[in-house]
Amino acid sequence: MTSVLRIALQKSGRLSEDSYQLFKECGIRFDYGTGKLKSVSSNFPAEFLFLRDDDIPGYVEDGVADLGIVGENVAVETGRPVTTVHKLGFSKCRLSIAIPRGTEWSGIQDLDGKNIATSYPNLLGHYLAGEGVKAEIHEISGSVEIAPSIGLAEAVCDIVSSGSTLLSNGLKEVETIFRSEAILIARPELEADKQALVDKLLFRIKSVQAAKN
Ligand code: ATP
Ligand code: ZN
Repeated sequence: MTSVLRIALQKSGRLSEDSYQLFKECGIRFDYGTGKLKSVSSNFPAEFLFLRDDDIPGYVEDGVADLGIVGENVAVETGRPVTTVHKLGFSKCRLSIAIPRGTEWSGIQDLDGKNIATSYPNLLGHYLAGEGVKAEIHEISGSVEIAPSIGLAEAVCDIVSSGSTLLSNGLKEVETIFRSEAILIARPELEADKQALVDKLLFRIKSVQAAKN
């Protein structure tokens, strides 16, 4: 039996369009945006699965998929033992701490004893521990930026790209704790035939990237 790479992509979100474009530029065709969960490429031994980004590292670890595209932020936060194959250069963003605009800031120590709302408890916890700051982390899954205005937290730790969401919620960015971009991840110890397909794909990705620089 000839092997087929199973590649997990975000179904719909900030990674989706650029992920699709990347494969398109690599000359790999498949149906996308049809609402289907799965699509088989017509000209490369690959099958694409469309999933929520947060679930992708777990599926890659479990072997449901061989490869996936996620933000580094999600890959690190989930802590799954997957291999980073390549950085892709899109969906660039940062994970930052922000506080209400009128609040004074003299440094990270200001967060001692404070409540911080975030969807990234592991990344934030690791950072605070490194800085020797003891704060209470409140994990919430969405709309993190409204937490200070409803009295849930004194600070937030959230994904920022332009900063306009922070601004419109009366917050200011005071510390960046992590910088992220989209990455290609793989199941560790792929079988030789699948690894050969990954190498072939990677060669095309690098050629596409080189042509752009
Ligand atoms: P899903 O429904 O699949 O769980 P989501 O809402 O968690 O989606 P998105 O907002 O689509 O996720 O973001 C996906 C990834 O894109 C993030 O994990 C991050 O790496 C990156 N990202 C997030 N916000 C931005 C942004 N404003 N600009 C660029 N990249 C971003
Ligand atoms: Zn998500």
